[in-house]
Amino acid sequence: MNLSEIHYPRTLQELMLLLERERNVQIVAGGTTFGCIQTSRYLSFEPSIVYVHHIPELRSIHKTERMISFGAACTLNELEHVYPFEHEQAKNLLHAIGTPAVRNIATIGGHLMYERRFLSLWALLACLDAELEFRTASKASTKNIWYLADETGLPLLEPGRLLTRIRIPLQSIDHLFIQRIGGSVFPYGDGACLVSAATIDRRTISNFKLVIAGARAYRNYDAEQRIIAAPHPLPARIMQTVMRMYAESLRKTNFWNVEVLLPLISEALEGIQRSTV
Ligand SMILES: Cc1cc2nc3c(=O)[nH]c(=O)nc-3n(C[C@H](O)[C@H](O)[C@H](O)COP(=O)(O)OP(=O)(O)OC[C@H]3O[C@@H](n4cnc5c(N)ncnc54)[C@H](O)[C@@H]3O)c2cc1C
Repeated sequence: MNLSEIHYPRTLQELMLLLERERNVQIVAGGTTFGCIQTSRYLSFEPSIVYVHHIPELRSIHKTERMISFGAACTLNELEHVYPFEHEQAKNLLHAIGTPAVRNIATIGGHLMYERRFLSLWALLACLDAELEFRTASKASTKNIWYLADETGLPLLEPGRLLTRIRIPLQSIDHLFIQRIGGSVFPYGDGACLVSAATIDRRTISNFKLVIAGARAYRNYDAEQRIIAAPHPLPARIMQTVMRMYAESLRKTNFWNVEVLLPLISEALEGIQRSTV
């Protein structure tokens, strides 16, 4: 039987020294996925386990005029009153994750770094252009959330990398459409989330994104560019072109069930048409 040593660093500096010193480290935040990330019937862990939940730097939330930043070890419950979860649909999505007891220990860092698939909040955070700060002992690097997906949309996580913060630019969200599709999203299942967010500025759609994430993540940049800077409400010809672009790319990438997704995308776009700013 292999024994693992568990470390409980109290500061970020202590944690960084540990990650530098130990070779194979299992990072644990809330530990709610522990049973699910095992690949065999027998539990096996890295020689070192690092529990990051008690590090104050990873538990803080900062807000400036332009940005909100969550520490990766903030629990899902701690996020419920801050942007973007003050929006009703976003809060409902958060509340649909597990139970209040699970959300009290499950962290946003563990949610994003779950290696098997993209969990419920991923599409929302991708729609809002979240940036992730990773740290090694010698440097910090900031990556867009899409860094966690490869070119085919599958999760791509480098083991042992510490996620420290999640930063989201504050922007006005004039239209938010969130739809859960399929079965369960955790731990396996065929479930996914479709999220679209738009900002309307003086009768022009100044920002638009639509992301679907579950077993894979999907976004069509070209279709989004057709909508950004278009007048609001969208002219019928742009709507038709965009729907055709989504249909073609979903079929080409063989992404989930196109017959289910297309009506939802159409519903999201119709929602923008009805938005009053
Ligand atoms: C009963 C139950 C129901 C659930 N229902 C849902 C649901 O409906 N929808 C949904 O989306 N999710 C659901 N979940 C999953 C839940 O969202 C995740 O379990 C949780 O967010 C993971 O957080 P954690 O802190 O426990 O992560 P952990 O289990 O501690 O870690 C998860 C992974 O992330 C890595 N990790 C953690 N923190 C960091 C970090 N800072 N840097 C680098 N790597 C890190 C760990 O090494 C591990 O690989 C459910 C979970 C449970 C237990």
